[in-house]
Order: sequence, then structure tokens, then C-alpha cells
Amino acid sequence: MEDITNNEALYERACHSLVGGVDSPVRAWKSVGGTPIFIASASGAMLRDTDGREYRDYVGSWGPMILGHANPDVVRAISEAAARSSSFGAPCTDEIELAEIIRGVFPSIDKIRFVNSGTEAAMTALRLARGFTGRNKIVKFAGCYHGHSDSLLVAAGSGALTFGVPTSPGITASSAADTIVAPYNSVEAITRIFEECGNDIAAIIVEPWAGNMGLVPPMPGFLEHLRKTSKDAGALLIFDEIITGFRVPEGGVQNILKIRPDLTCLGKIIGGGMPVGALGGDARIMNMLAPVGPVYQAGTLAGNPVAMASGIATLRKLTQTAYQKLEYAAAALGVGLKRAASSAGLDVSISRLGSVLGMFFAPKLPTNLDLVQTTRSDIYPAFFHGMLARGEYFAPSAFEAVFVSLEHTNEIIGRTIESATEVFADLASR
Ligand SMILES: *Cc1c(COP(=O)(O)O)cnc(C)c1O
Repeated sequence: MEDITNNEALYERACHSLVGGVDSPVRAWKSVGGTPIFIASASGAMLRDTDGREYRDYVGSWGPMILGHANPDVVRAISEAAARSSSFGAPCTDEIELAEIIRGVFPSIDKIRFVNSGTEAAMTALRLARGFTGRNKIVKFAGCYHGHSDSLLVAAGSGALTFGVPTSPGITASSAADTIVAPYNSVEAITRIFEECGNDIAAIIVEPWAGNMGLVPPMPGFLEHLRKTSKDAGALLIFDEIITGFRVPEGGVQNILKIRPDLTCLGKIIGGGMPVGALGGDARIMNMLAPVGPVYQAGTLAGNPVAMASGIATLRKLTQTAYQKLEYAAAALGVGLKRAASSAGLDVSISRLGSVLGMFFAPKLPTNLDLVQTTRSDIYPAFFHGMLARGEYFAPSAFEAVFVSLEHTNEIIGRTIESATEVFADLASR
């Protein structure tokens, strides 16, 4: 930990003016300890901090940087768009273009509304579902994250039918009371909830692969059950594909499994690193949104021309060949990490969807949040710092996914596996 002086000085300075020195809590490294590094620049698979140290990046800005950082075509698209002005507050052609690209890949999406973040996309999806169905209640799953809007920052309460309790001060008990929280992958819980109050439920919202408690796959039949149960009860099914969207060559989990949700939330990759979210779905539902319908939603910077250009340039580069390359690199990383762990005698299980991986310190993959919490996440801080010291930047929190980009070459992945081999050996000898 020699000369991290720039980062330490910057963090101290940041803490004077920014709450906790950061603009999103996970960046403050509270769960792994230490001083966050300040990134000066990034290129390809590499981050460079203000001390000039380089790191192989496995966060990828939490998903958007699937092409790697500062991809020249994306940079060009952004600068050309910015030169035509960074905002009009009026329609622009790139909104149509990005919407058409997304529609071309997602058969469930007839109409789209672009917003500025994933949080906004999910929040709008709930309002729209409530407006469309005339019902109030929402079902979500413990361990799924859909941004920080009031109805969604809710955890399971106690009791048979678990009405939610706020997970943050400032969220009223009444907004939480309209959210029902079920265990991920539990077909029985959904059946029971819909038996008890199916007629009050506006929508189920789910990450079709849960990417915010590590990476937890859906069990066979789970998503199909959500589709059938919601449909039978006249409730909507919302897939939050903000992580999974464009992560796989099929476009999203819905297309792999051939399940058609009513609404889909997108974000992250579709902005190529610029702030974007999108909500899309069935035209009958989407047309409830203003200006066609009565459900109000708006955004000064929504459909921003620079963000649209960045998204278009990013999605255009995601060819079948690109997905094959991503698949290969991510698979190699997963196999390498697992092998490195077992040669050290550590139980590590790996999940993977295209270029995103989950790594759990457990002999087998957890299937819900309770099981995720029984994994040996207590050793993650030591893993994180061991990797960081070897120039590997993993998420500063145990239950985040691992992201691989097109710039993660065999050589880069190989170096990371070597680092992990050393770190796992260290961890095992404690
Ligand atoms: C990141 C994320 C969000 C929130 O997106 P923001 O752009 O951070 O508001 C919502 N849902 C999922 C599944 C996410 O991973």
C-alpha cells in the first residue's frame, strides 16, 4: 500500500464537498475497507488511477462498458454528436434510430420511452403498470435491484404474506406497504401471494437473471410461472433487463427463454457509458404514457442526442463475432477462477450469462438472497484487496457481478487468473 497519496488526498478533499466523497454509495468501499481509487482515465480493459497505476477492470462501470473503455468508434460518435450540441430538448433522429435497433432485437417491445437512468425506467414501469391495471400492489423479489425509487427500496417484512418494509429512512410505510417481496426462484411464494391478493396486483417486476446479489440464475420454470400467474390474474410482468439486455447475442433473457414480458426495462449497455434508461413494451400499455395517454412522465434530457449516439455506436459493434469473443473470454475467466480456487482448496462457484459472471465463496450456487447470505462473503474484502494489489479491479462489494469486455484478451484474462491463483492460495492459508 505504498504511495497511494493522490487517492488518499483526493478522497479527503472529496469528503469535504461530496457526501461520503462519492456520488453512489458502493464507490466508497465501505464493505471492503480502504480508500477508493480515483480513476484518471481508462482505455480498453484497463483503468488508470490518479497515481498512474493500472488495473484490469472487471467492473466495466457496472455493465455499460461491454466494448471496453474509450472505444474509438464510440468516442467519435460522442464527439460528433456533442459538436452538433449536447442537448436540444426537442426530437432528434438518433432517438428513432436507437429505438429501432432495440425493437429489432426485442420482439416484446413495440414502443419505447427513453429516460436518464435505470432507476427512472423501473419507476416509470411501475407507474405505468398501476395506471394500466388500476391496481396498486407490486411484487418484487428479495435480492433484485431495480434502482432506488420508493416502491422498490423495500425488503420483505415478517409474516405469512410479506408486505414490504422500507429499507431506507424517508420511504413511507404506505409506499412500502404496496410492495410485496417474495424470495427469488420461489414458485410457491408467487402462487400463495396471487391466491391471497392476485386481484390487487398491478405487476411483478423481476431481474430474469438476478445480477445484484452476485449473479443468480432463474431456476427452470420460475420465469414461466411468473408469466402464467401474472397473466391469469390480469397483472403485468416487467422484466428488468438493465444488466442482461444486450449481454447475450439474443438480446435479452426473454429471447433466450422465449418468454414475452409486458414491459422491459433497459439501461447500462444501451447508453454505452452515457446516462440512459429505457422502458419498452406492448403498444397498448406503452400508449398509456403521455402524450398519448394519461400516465405522466417526462424528462428534460431524455433521449439526449449524445447519449443516443453513444448507445447506437455501442450496439452497432455488438455483432455475432463480438458476442462469440465475449463468450469465450468470460468462459475462460470463469473456468480459470474456479480452477484456481479449487487448487487452493477453496469452495468457489461461478455463474455466467454471456459476459457477466457471479462468483460465490460456496460449494454450490445460491438460488435466492437468503442462500447468497450464507456464502463466505466475509473473505471477499481480502480477495478484493489481494486482487487490487496485483492490478485487478473487481467490484468493491461481495455481491456484485463480474463484467468482461471485448478488450479482455486471452493475455489479460490469463494475468487475472494468475493473480487469483495467488490470492486464493493466500486466503486458503489464513
Ligand atoms: C443498475 C440497475 C438499475 C438501476 O440503474 P441506474 O442507471 O443505476 O439507475 C436497475 N435495475 C438493475 C437490474 C440494475 O442492475
